[in-house]
Amino acid sequence: MPPVPKKKTPKSRQGKRRSHLRTRVVATTKCPHCHSPKQSHRVCPTCGYYKGREAITVGKPELPE
Ligand SMILES: [Zn+2]
Repeated sequence: MPPVPKKKTPKSRQGKRRSHLRTRVVATTKCPHCHSPKQSHRVCPTCGYYKGREAITVGKPELPE
């Protein structure tokens, strides 16, 4: 017989364990270039700008080949 829990986990304990499992709401700021909401300290997904210059080209999917 495999190892089996001695006691059933109560709903309260299960809930306490899962209290850390929630997903976080990401904080968004306005892009200074195109004014659309974007994640702070990330390249803007709409215009591809970061720190006042174009960091990535948006529109064409970049292929790794
Ligand atoms: Zn932008």
